[in-house]
Amino acid sequence: MTDSPTTVRPERRAELAAGLARVRARVADACAAAGRDTGEVTLVAVTKTYPAVDVVALAGLGVTDVGENRDQEAAPKAVEVAGAGVTPRWHFIGRLQRNKARSVVRYADVVQSVDSVRLAAALDTAASEVRDRPLDVLVQVSIDGDPARGGALPGVADPERGLDPVAAAVAGAAGLRLAGLMAVAPLGWEPDRAFARLAEVAARLRADHPGATAVSAGMSGDLESAINHGATHVRVGSALLGMRPTLG
Ligand SMILES: *Cc1c(COP(=O)(O)O)cnc(C)c1O
Repeated sequence: MTDSPTTVRPERRAELAAGLARVRARVADACAAAGRDTGEVTLVAVTKTYPAVDVVALAGLGVTDVGENRDQEAAPKAVEVAGAGVTPRWHFIGRLQRNKARSVVRYADVVQSVDSVRLAAALDTAASEVRDRPLDVLVQVSIDGDPARGGALPGVADPERGLDPVAAAVAGAAGLRLAGLMAVAPLGWEPDRAFARLAEVAARLRADHPGATAVSAGMSGDLESAINHGATHVRVGSALLGMRPTLG
C-alpha cells in the first residue's frame, strides 16, 4: 500500500489557482452584469473524481464549499480532508439512495438533491440520530417535469414527488432545515429559459417558506445565466479542476 500524498504538487496548485481565478472572474462579471453583489453567490467547487489533496489545496486557496455526488467516493474523501485539518462545507449534490442517508448525514452540511418525501424522511431519521444540529436541505426540482429523471415536480399533485409535499416534508422535519432549491438545466434547453422557470418556482416556494432562500443553479457551462436569474449557489467542477476522465 502506498501512502496517499498529503499535499498537491506545485504545478497542480498553480493549475487550481488559475482555474479558481478564472471562475471567480466569471462570477464577478456575471454579478456585475446582473447588478448583484458578488457576496450573494457562493461557489461550490465540485470535486467529484478528484482526490482529497485537491480539496485541501482549494481550501487553502479560499474555497469554502465543495460538492460531491457519490457517497462511496465522498465519505472517505471527507475523512481524508478532515485528517488534513481542513473543514469545508460539504454539499451532497447527486442522486441519493435512502440506504446511504446514514452515511451522508455524517459528513454533509447540505444535501442539495432531495426529491421525494421518502428520502426526506430517511434523511430526517438519520440526521436526528447522528447530528447535533439540523441538516440543510435543498429540494432538487425538475425543470422540464420529466418524472423519469431526478427532481421533485413543481405544480404536480403527486404526494411522493410533487414539489409542495416534498418541501412540506423537509420543512416539517425536526432534523432538517429547508434552505431552498437546486436544479440542473435539462439537456436541450436554453439555460436562460430553464433558469427563468426555476426562478418562478423558487419565488413561489418562498411565499410558503420564507426561509428557503437558496437557489443552487449553474455549472461550468451556464453559470452566467444562472446568476442572471438569481442563483445563490453555483456548482462548478470542470472549469475549476479540469475535464473529468469519466462521466460522473
Ligand atoms: C458534476 C456536477 C456539477 C458540475 O459540473 P461541471 O460541468 O463540471 O461544472 C454540477 N452539478 C451537479 C449536480 C453535478 O453532478
